[in-house]
Amino acid sequence: MSVQRPCPVCKGLDATPVIGRRNYQYIRCGGCQTVYLDPMPSAEEAAALYQNSAYFMGDEGTGYRDYYAMHKALAPHFHRRLRVLAKHLPRRGRLLDVGCADGYFLEMARADGWEVMGVEVSEEMAAKASGRLNIPIVTSVDRLLPVEFDAITMWEVLEHLPDPVAELQCLAQRLRPGGFLMLSTPNAGHWQALRAPETWTAYRPPAHLVLFTADSLQLALEKAGLFPIRIWKVSPLPPLPAWLQQATRPLARALADGSAHPWTLALMLWRGVRLLGWAWQKVAHPQDDIFATLEALACRPA
Ligand SMILES: [Zn+2]
Repeated sequence: MSVQRPCPVCKGLDATPVIGRRNYQYIRCGGCQTVYLDPMPSAEEAAALYQNSAYFMGDEGTGYRDYYAMHKALAPHFHRRLRVLAKHLPRRGRLLDVGCADGYFLEMARADGWEVMGVEVSEEMAAKASGRLNIPIVTSVDRLLPVEFDAITMWEVLEHLPDPVAELQCLAQRLRPGGFLMLSTPNAGHWQALRAPETWTAYRPPAHLVLFTADSLQLALEKAGLFPIRIWKVSPLPPLPAWLQQATRPLARALADGSAHPWTLALMLWRGVRLLGWAWQKVAHPQDDIFATLEALACRPA
């Protein structure tokens, strides 16, 4: 039997297979329920993935069909997250967005009063963000100016990192004491992750390496020396009766990738579908966790 890779969060060695995809295997830690990839892709493979423009445009299986078309799907989340940050840091300050892609969030953050900086591993995206914001965007955290941040954000980034605790620890060092880190990441406690893994789009190797439950995310933040203030769940995605799931799959996909048209009508329709699904879930699968995404707010102890 091969030696199992230890859990990246609790270091446990008691993991069971979840699903195999493209020569990779996701396994779930029996201790903390974190799901992680075994083997992890090599550093070279990971680097190549994000330097390929197809990742953001055209590679639906691993990356995005069209990242730019997703702006309208992302905007309400970005606005909501900025409101959460503003509640804790009403005077704003200096904000770093890690994995800033084309700088869309940073542009909104700057309009909200933040002094912004960004890190983006994809050189092409970093150049786009730099052009959009007219500021330099670096491709790794160690290339940042030696300054402290009032807030660090990372939207759907943590799951891409082979050693998330070490990475969070490094980011915690860049926060001023009392500064906040806020992030979002897929919820590995979602019903699809647990009982329908073949349908869960977050099982996406070799891009997604580590997937958290609310509890394992809390543990990861604590291990990184951060104080988790709150972890909450967003993006309700209840199970649907099979016929409804089948009938609405194109609609769900078009909304997820930003291609739905007309947008508002599609969104209202999808909300109606999910409401039906939610009512059905209460009867058919009452144990299901219906939220697809976790969000966390943590602070560097003063
Ligand atoms: Zn674990």
